[in-house]
Amino acid sequence: MRQIFISLFILAISVTGAVAKPKNVILLIGDGMGEAEIALTRNYEFDSGPGLYIDTIKNKASAIVVALRNDDPEKYAFVGDSASGGTALATGMLTSVRRISTTAMYNKPMKTIAEEAKEKGFNVGLVSTAVITDATPASFAAHVNNRYCMRYGQDSCLPGEKPIIDQMLELGIDVMLGGGNLHLPAKYADGTIEEFAVSQGYEIIRDIDQLASGELSNKNDKVWGVFADHHLPREWQGPDGKWAQLIETDADNNVIFPKARRCELNPEHAGTPTLEMMSKRALDELTAKQNEKGFFLMIEGASIDKAAHDADPCGSMGEMLAFDRTVKMAIEYAKKTPDTVVVVTADHGGATQNIHHPYYEDYKRTGDNIPGLYNLLETNGGNELVVFYGTNREYDQTHTGINVPVFSYGMPDDLVFRGTIRQTEIKDTLAEYLFE
Ligand SMILES: [Zn+2]
Repeated sequence: MRQIFISLFILAISVTGAVAKPKNVILLIGDGMGEAEIALTRNYEFDSGPGLYIDTIKNKASAIVVALRNDDPEKYAFVGDSASGGTALATGMLTSVRRISTTAMYNKPMKTIAEEAKEKGFNVGLVSTAVITDATPASFAAHVNNRYCMRYGQDSCLPGEKPIIDQMLELGIDVMLGGGNLHLPAKYADGTIEEFAVSQGYEIIRDIDQLASGELSNKNDKVWGVFADHHLPREWQGPDGKWAQLIETDADNNVIFPKARRCELNPEHAGTPTLEMMSKRALDELTAKQNEKGFFLMIEGASIDKAAHDADPCGSMGEMLAFDRTVKMAIEYAKKTPDTVVVVTADHGGATQNIHHPYYEDYKRTGDNIPGLYNLLETNGGNELVVFYGTNREYDQTHTGINVPVFSYGMPDDLVFRGTIRQTEIKDTLAEYLFE
């Protein structure tokens, strides 16, 4: 079969007189991966020294992240979410939080780079450690008023609105890997989502063995891998499974600082595919299709952010390291695959803060001065590292409106991201690379 394809390919070249050159884009999004989350991970794992792969990437810029208000799209919201950030990255346009590639207030669909790639004959893949219909992957392949309209019958769907999973399958995303078993029995027309997916040529894979088997689908097939009911479990957890805590005080309201502890492996993650494994499989599938146009692949490390919401620094760092290993794998792929660019960025920042250690002389030592959730961790090198989440006294920390990094590898000189840019510029530049 491959032999026939190669012959046809050579025939195509001799007829047109030009060599078809496939172009590929791999866009990696660390959800909630602001510089604070990166610094925390670098400090914990490498004691501030070299070790993170992303620190070795030479081309780096900083992206300004904003969103719009839904009640008045003329006004800015200075903190976005994964829906507005995903939409900015997928469409190059701003919207309000919770919206998936629809305009603020007016709910009009905004075209995504993945849709344009499909229309132009490219293959498209989406990989996430979250449920595959989560805001980041959804922003590339669906248009809904609310990110939680994921499957039929959910309250967030407007009357008659087509849910995210229905739209993703109808668009025909070639490779989808992530969580989402709960979507399979959902209603679609007279049957289920699973029946519809199979009718559209999807091979559904459900566990790490099938993922790692190395048996690729038929060249004409699509692949949908579901490895959890909803989101995939995180790789790491806090000491004794605990997240950051409100600080304890004695009878005089003096702080009783906790002892520094190490992060642990999360036993629930055992048997779960890593982001790197899923991304490798997606690249194998897309490569095997030998599409003469090329492919667009989005890979999301989703739970850097989900753990930060929970004030779970160990959870966040374990996911950050998994994401970092995936970036390395993607760039190694690009190094041996001509005309392949890799862009690494985040959708928004999280609430993580690296703060002073208790020994610091002016450190305030009463309970009133430490209002949020506090964790003292022991780094790989035996240093003590303080992590603080102060946007809520409970486990629902917010995002923050800081800039996010933009790393790139393989971009032509005139398209390399440099200096301070707007998050919305990324899509236009990738589209220029891929389609022009
Ligand atoms: Zn979030």
